[in-house]
Amino acid sequence: MPTLSHDACPCGRGAHFATCCGRYIGTGMPAPDAESLMRSRYSAFVRGDAPHLLATWHASTRPATLELEPGVKWLGLEVRAQHATDADHAEVEFVARSRLGGRASRLHERSRFVREGGHWYYVDGDLFTKDKT
Ligand SMILES: [Zn+2]
Repeated sequence: MPTLSHDACPCGRGAHFATCCGRYIGTGMPAPDAESLMRSRYSAFVRGDAPHLLATWHASTRPATLELEPGVKWLGLEVRAQHATDADHAEVEFVARSRLGGRASRLHERSRFVREGGHWYYVDGDLFTKDKT
């Protein structure tokens, strides 16, 4: 039986949404590591799920409200690298591609995550502006 593509998780990990990022979006179940949280946040962008983005944003940097830009088509996520700074801090480098009104764009960021009370949170990130790929 071929896999139905519309069931595939937007994060590109190759699993179905329900058994991938869907486990952590709107369920209250904490992602086990920073990469899984980061992937679930990408999937939330794809699905327009602002509540999940806010819920996984660290209180120190979280915006009061979040307006997702309408019409953005997310094309894919590539996790380039990740490493744990210590037991409760980690960094994930990724490239996310999107398209808005026929214009392609590419976000290459190294994000910082912190774990508090058993939950990982996105803190902030550095953008790579000079990029050859
Ligand atoms: Zn996923």
